[in-house]
Amino acid sequence: MQRYFLFVDGERREPDSRQWFNSDNPFTRQPWAEIARGNEVDADLAVRAAHRTFVSGDWRELSASARGQLLCRLADRLASDAARLAEIEVRDNGKLYAEMVGQLSYLPQWYRYYGGLADKIQGDVIPLDKKGYFTFTRREPLGVVAIITPWNSPLMLLAWKLAPALAAGCTAVIKPSEFTSASTLEFVELLHEVGFPRGVVNVVTGFGNEVGSALVSHPLVRKVTFTGADSTGRRINEQAAHDFKHVSLELGGKSPNIVFDDANLDDAVNGAVSGIFAATGQTCIAGSRLLVQSKVHDEVVERVVSLARTAQMGDPMVASTQVGPITTGPQYDKVLHYIDVARNEGAHLALGGHAATRAECGDGWFVEPTIFTGVTNDMRIAQEEVFGPVLSVIRFDAEDEAVAIANDVRFGLGAGVWTSDIGRAFRMSERIESGTVWVNTYRAVSYMSPFGGYKDSGLGRENGIDAVNEYLQTKCVWINTGALTGNPFVMR
Ligand code: NAD
Repeated sequence: MQRYFLFVDGERREPDSRQWFNSDNPFTRQPWAEIARGNEVDADLAVRAAHRTFVSGDWRELSASARGQLLCRLADRLASDAARLAEIEVRDNGKLYAEMVGQLSYLPQWYRYYGGLADKIQGDVIPLDKKGYFTFTRREPLGVVAIITPWNSPLMLLAWKLAPALAAGCTAVIKPSEFTSASTLEFVELLHEVGFPRGVVNVVTGFGNEVGSALVSHPLVRKVTFTGADSTGRRINEQAAHDFKHVSLELGGKSPNIVFDDANLDDAVNGAVSGIFAATGQTCIAGSRLLVQSKVHDEVVERVVSLARTAQMGDPMVASTQVGPITTGPQYDKVLHYIDVARNEGAHLALGGHAATRAECGDGWFVEPTIFTGVTNDMRIAQEEVFGPVLSVIRFDAEDEAVAIANDVRFGLGAGVWTSDIGRAFRMSERIESGTVWVNTYRAVSYMSPFGGYKDSGLGRENGIDAVNEYLQTKCVWINTGALTGNPFVMR
């Protein structure tokens, strides 16, 4: 068992509680690490350290170019540790090593991209309507940012927040998911190794209601950025509203993956399977509703079921494994519960529908790839996020009907459209209410392309140039260039 400490003000710290909790390996269900159980006292210490550094010369007077260079140095350091960090994440969240090593090899790009952006943040000269003034804007960092992350892609989703926050000149306190804290604690040590001043980035591990909530309500935190469940996001947003903190939320989805009868069906079938079964369905952008046009419905269902049936389940560290375990015990229970819900609603079970008992799955939290057909969009299985390997197939006839079904959910994170008609591709991408639309592909993301939700899927955008604005505020400066004249009691 490895023991992990908090990381506050540049050093490891014992938690105020003197308590640790276990981090379990979802493949073995055995604990492999002990994580410090932080509380409100630790959260306060970390926020004060981040705030001290924010107002100190160490960070504030560092030039934007120097800040950018630190981010680029961090990128290089991360690149050399990608395999090690991937292994740690697999141990914690059970995702395939093949996927995580790819993801973590890509991770440095976020720090390079925002490192390059750091010294290109600038205000404007305002071409004013009034004479006698020189007026300009400054783009200033918000201050201390609380970063609250989930378990599905801990370091990647952290980078989406931390890289632009640091480029903007903010300091941060991170609260990783209690299920996957280890990689974030390893990461912050690397960050300090490359020369970031102490207190710029702090990590307080623990539970949402003990640490997360203390960060959200802390008066010195000026921004909260969160990825996770929509119910948690709502609570955070309400709590942060008390003292008008800035908030970015990346929440859940019930994304439609829409196959038209003119699509290349080989591609569409692959896209449907990877859309829901990659990462064992545990992604916010999972294509969990497969909308299929009537003419090709039966063929597509038959081919998707056949392909999903071949999935090799087992040890996520083994290269041939295609579907790994569910990350957490509560999530495993939730997925099985939703399978019962779908059955009771009258959906037809076409594949799976139970926990996996294959020998290769050992004692892990495995659920068989599951496909329901005959789903109607008013069913709970079509409306609520499962966050697991459960696909709902919905039949449609006309394009308008596909749009109506696609939009008839409270979420709007991602959507896929499979068609060979370019006009339809444009029409659909305009009409779907969703932060991302993929045409003849699914799930592509980049540090360069904005990502975020419509409707209940969230607030704000991550990635791309604009994401840095989520961590900046604008100050307008007026310089009087002439003599002050006129009646002092009348506003000019
Ligand atoms: P969660 O929302 O409970 O937890 C996410 C993070 O928020 C964790 O770090 C947690 O400790 C923290 N948190 C919890 N309560 C908090 C509070 N009151 N104040 C501040 N922080 C708090 O999500 P989870 O337990 O990781 O997963 C539950 C569900 O969330 C999943 O079933 C899935 O539907 C969804 N989820 C979504 C994403 C995504 O990428 N959008 C990722 C993981 C999970």
